[in-house]
Amino acid sequence: MREFLRKYRAELAAIQLPPGLRRWTAKIGKVFEEEGVEFVILGKSCYGACDLADKEAKQVGADVLVHYGHADMGLPASLPVLFVEARMLVNVTEKLEQGFEEIDSRRVGVVTTVQHVGELQKVRELLTSRGIEVAIGKPGFRARYPGQVLGCDMGSATSVMGEVDEFLYLGTGRFHPLGVALVTGKEVLTINPITGNFERWSRETESFLKKRRALVARAACCRRFGVVTSTKIGQARFKLARHLVEKLTKAGKDVQMILVDEVTPETLGDFGLDAVVCAACPRIPIDDAERFEIPLLTPFELSLVLGERWEGYRLDVVKAIDF
Ligand code: SF4
Repeated sequence: MREFLRKYRAELAAIQLPPGLRRWTAKIGKVFEEEGVEFVILGKSCYGACDLADKEAKQVGADVLVHYGHADMGLPASLPVLFVEARMLVNVTEKLEQGFEEIDSRRVGVVTTVQHVGELQKVRELLTSRGIEVAIGKPGFRARYPGQVLGCDMGSATSVMGEVDEFLYLGTGRFHPLGVALVTGKEVLTINPITGNFERWSRETESFLKKRRALVARAACCRRFGVVTSTKIGQARFKLARHLVEKLTKAGKDVQMILVDEVTPETLGDFGLDAVVCAACPRIPIDDAERFEIPLLTPFELSLVLGERWEGYRLDVVKAIDF
């Protein structure tokens, strides 16, 4: 950090933090104060490295942006950016040892989020010492570390899915394990690194698919569609959005392309639409489905609406050609 501030002779730094880290602002600010660097906290959203606040940083005249919590995904920025990755200091292996009997396969793929990637090597050693073959996959084009998965990049799981019987996910939340189960078709066992609780995801996957089928059926009767994308640099999938608009137009639907910063029921509420297809962050239609009154579909679900046969579910992941 100090080196970065000195290298760019920063006089004013903009700081971007995800909500979970905002209560540490005073502590974080100390380093800047010690370096004699003025700082401003950007209160905008901070969903991931895709949501870089470089424009806002420029607007306030900052020389640099310090983005906390996420790993760099290689997106271009209009000023120097330092990514300070979050690491959670919990002993996952200790918890794993206590519930070891939960693992009932001999070949296991291990995946996690950036907060726990530092634990992967220890987990590998522990499992290997108990006679389990461990595979830690290569990430796709957005995640940075082997074994790391993002809502929009499941490469660390798909790259080893042929070599394993099941996946072990270290982390909390439902989206990542659900995503791994959907893209690989394998069982996913999760361990919560804080509580040490284990959970299996097969039943969750079934109920998810049932809900999505119902949503697709509902959207099939809709006439006025929106295709939404975002101004966030890593979510601005304009090429994909244009392609979806073309598809809908060809299918004889009324369609509008909408650009927003955040895809929420409020930002989409006033357009009088029957259904919307999301060409922004792939997590939104899945994680926030219940918040929307109208169907919010993924691009794959739109192809189902337009007549493609349901032969297995395809999770939306971000590709370079989407931009
Ligand atoms: S899943 Fe969504 S919020 Fe997370 S990095 Fe990908 S685009 Fe950003």
